[in-house]
Amino acid sequence: MSRTLASQLGYFTATVLKAERRWPRGKLRAVRAMILFIVCTCLQPVPMVVRGQTPAREPASATHTVAEDALTLPLAIDIALRTNPLIRATASGQYPAAVILSCIDSRAPAEIIFDARLGDTFNARVAGNIADDDLLGSMEFACAVAGAKVVLVMGHTSCGAIKGAIDGAQLGHLTGLLNKIKPAVEATRYEGARTSKNDAFVDEVAKTNVRQTVSAIRQRSEVLAGLEKEGKIKIVGSMYRLVGGGVDFFT
Ligand SMILES: [Zn+2]
Repeated sequence: MSRTLASQLGYFTATVLKAERRWPRGKLRAVRAMILFIVCTCLQPVPMVVRGQTPAREPASATHTVAEDALTLPLAIDIALRTNPLIRATASGQYPAAVILSCIDSRAPAEIIFDARLGDTFNARVAGNIADDDLLGSMEFACAVAGAKVVLVMGHTSCGAIKGAIDGAQLGHLTGLLNKIKPAVEATRYEGARTSKNDAFVDEVAKTNVRQTVSAIRQRSEVLAGLEKEGKIKIVGSMYRLVGGGVDFFT
């Protein structure tokens, strides 16, 4: 089980030499790739653990200090958090550039998509990126109180909430939420199958839903509409593409 790196290499080299005589070229390439993977894995500074055995602690080297020895994972995390300049810089106040209203979909987290850091953006997430009164209040705080300059509504392709609205799905509180997306289903002009199985239709409804959310923000929030009229903020719609990872902004 616990072969050394040298014996592993010897074993696989012998395997390849044997295979040279009888395997097709494609299979041989696969074995060579496996050897490369194993070599790379063995070169990682991770102790090899044999199943059922506790790995022996490595002996302290000449450069291994007492402080390093005492550095446990929780302590390292604590130090990293206390010394992170962004955490210290944002602790006493925040000046985010934008507030982003997006879907809860695990594949569409706005902060990661836009490579945002601590304090860069407000992030409001709800299935189907709709704007109810509480979310409008949150966005009003973000812009009128905290000074965000952009309200960005971001839908995404293959949205489950959109599919649920198309299908008329019913489940607890989700039913009421999906009812708020249904007007987008009805308003979407589309020649073809108007079903949740049709990805093109689902994505068209998602775009309509974003446009309707942007309109709803302007119509229902005097605060945000007023700030936009004064040129202090922009309210913008966008779609995130799960395939490819691009964001298309609506004009
Ligand atoms: Zn979604």
